[in-house]
Amino acid sequence: MSVKNIVLDTNAATANQIRKKLTSYGITSFNITASPGAGKTTILEKTILALRDKRKIAVIEGDIVPIDVERLSELEIPVVLADTFGACHLDASMINKALRHLPLESIDLLFVENVGNLICPAHFPIGTTYTVAIASIPEGDDKPEKYPLLFGNADVILINKIDLIPYCPFSIKRFTASVRKINKTAVILPISAHTNEGMLSWLSYVKKSKIS
Ligand code: MG
Ligand code: ZN
Repeated sequence: MSVKNIVLDTNAATANQIRKKLTSYGITSFNITASPGAGKTTILEKTILALRDKRKIAVIEGDIVPIDVERLSELEIPVVLADTFGACHLDASMINKALRHLPLESIDLLFVENVGNLICPAHFPIGTTYTVAIASIPEGDDKPEKYPLLFGNADVILINKIDLIPYCPFSIKRFTASVRKINKTAVILPISAHTNEGMLSWLSYVKKSKIS
């Protein structure tokens, strides 16, 4: 077996342990993947503000600096940094370590903000219930064609910053058609975390989510 396959197999085994652990605590979890600047942290902020009175929420931030941890800690929910030590993705062992710092018995929803990157996060499952892929209008509508693994495996795809549609050459129709070539089942939701347009659909998706 190649070194690459050993790494991926070890990761998959750890991800399975994490999935079992989260399930045993009744925690529904989301792996949030996107390129840098797509709006991951802003979407999380809005989601937490809307749901924190109804659900017990925690966040794991995959990053190399604690800027987003500080930002989300202001929302008075548990937030831990999963330091990737410069790596461009989270792996399951980093999540395992971060989970030790969270009060698992009092969490309903766990959001993991992955490192901004459309390539390697798709190769490293981290044991979450749902995978969320976010694309944003200024990035262009060709991302599902260029990163088929990430968009192909997502359970839900958010098209963020739809308030910028008048200024950008982005076709939601083209984007959706290319997603459908690689992913027949993902829920696709156009939203703007900035203006809140479409956010209710995303929030209701999160509210209906369950541990599979
Ligand atoms: Mg962020
Ligand atoms: Zn990477």
